[in-house]
Amino acid sequence: MEEKQVKETRIVLVPVPAQGHVTPMMQLGKALHSKGFSITVVLTQSNRVSSSKDFSDFHFLTIPGSLTESDLQNLGPQKFVLKLNQICEASFKQCIGQLLHEQCNNDIACVVYDEYMYFSHAAVKEFQLPSVVFSTTSATAFVCRSVLSRVNAESFLIDMKDPETQDKVFPGLHPLRYKDLPTSVFGPIESTLKVYSETVNTRTASAVIINSASCLESSSLARLQQQLQVPVYPIGPLHITASAPSSLLEEDRSCVEWLNKQKSNSVIYISLGSLALMDTKDMLEMAWGLSNSNQPFLWVVRPGSIPGSEWTESLPEEFNRLVSERGYIVKWAPQMEVLRHPAVGGFWSHCGWNSTVESIGEGVPMICRPFTGDQKVNARYLERVWRIGVQLEGDLDKETVERAVEWLLVDEEGAEMRKRAIDLKEKIETSVRSGGSSCSSLDDFVNSM
Ligand code: UDP
Repeated sequence: MEEKQVKETRIVLVPVPAQGHVTPMMQLGKALHSKGFSITVVLTQSNRVSSSKDFSDFHFLTIPGSLTESDLQNLGPQKFVLKLNQICEASFKQCIGQLLHEQCNNDIACVVYDEYMYFSHAAVKEFQLPSVVFSTTSATAFVCRSVLSRVNAESFLIDMKDPETQDKVFPGLHPLRYKDLPTSVFGPIESTLKVYSETVNTRTASAVIINSASCLESSSLARLQQQLQVPVYPIGPLHITASAPSSLLEEDRSCVEWLNKQKSNSVIYISLGSLALMDTKDMLEMAWGLSNSNQPFLWVVRPGSIPGSEWTESLPEEFNRLVSERGYIVKWAPQMEVLRHPAVGGFWSHCGWNSTVESIGEGVPMICRPFTGDQKVNARYLERVWRIGVQLEGDLDKETVERAVEWLLVDEEGAEMRKRAIDLKEKIETSVRSGGSSCSSLDDFVNSM
């Protein structure tokens, strides 16, 4: 008897090869796979994520001749993105052509590409495939990029250099001030604006998916919906519904054992994500501030995150003694597990979007110390809109660190903030549950396919 072949509907995902982008894209893959789609992930040449058993149902392809992780380290994020988009256009076309040829029993429902992987557009256009843009940042950051892509670089630069203007609210973006806008420390303003105008250009994409929820940013989402003229699907935060372990660095789980020995809500967890840097002076102020706060701390010091040091060798011997009594330092932590741990009472964060939603998802209030880009937008929202964070601005000194940690973990104000964080966690959980806005939005997206 002739074997009947089952036709699969495939979705092709194109993530940026950086932790903060790979994680939500793989979560999206899991969410779509659970709805019955087959998943192909197209990676650049830094594909450690594919070896994980958690993705054995996924199919992985590598774009030949693309950039590697060391290119990301050497070029910095901004030049990396620009170069990647220049060199991947032709090879990605080749990849998709081959996929269509080999998988003739498959329909490709669409190509979902990270907003920064806009080279994907050429291939989808050539093969007339539906495409969808995936934004791994907040809707508010998308709105800001869109506003910035239209400013005049020269006069904007003048405004940004004026200390008085910096503190003013940017017209139409309340409560964001000029200094909260997602400008980048990784390159000149002209190339930032160039990248932004590419990321907000949805070209012929038929939809935009955002890893956010309407209970977090309803007005920014409404504004985007109006502006983009294609459906915008806020389906997040994905980490709650579609766990996808995709750490590019090895997680040190020994810190969970250390957390098990700490009192409830007593520990400050400190992590600056996968790209932010901290200079030696700030690191020392941080160390002494933590020391004076008398609170236990779990500190992620990523190797290479302190320019000029390999790891923690710039910390004084005396501080290292304190670490053995009251602290724990790791190179990379299982962050979601850490945030979920009852001992963790606060998160000192650079406010990357994933860290922000992961903290909200566990009801953990934050100390916000943004470094660059959309982190500044998120920090302002954490402090002024959701009121579950306190932002530290200006130079960092040990007194400020000590006060902030005590304020969050010991004082009444910190407890109030924790209550608000727990309220927001409940709202977020409702939105991803059946009947909730993010859950319905995902269903709407799937039905539109
Ligand atoms: N992360 C982690 N372990 C760490 C530090 C970070 O697993 O020790 C994860 C974190 O859970 C988040 C991601 O790395 O999912 C960082 O993304 P985010 O958007 O917060 O910041 P970025 O790294 O893009 O600046």
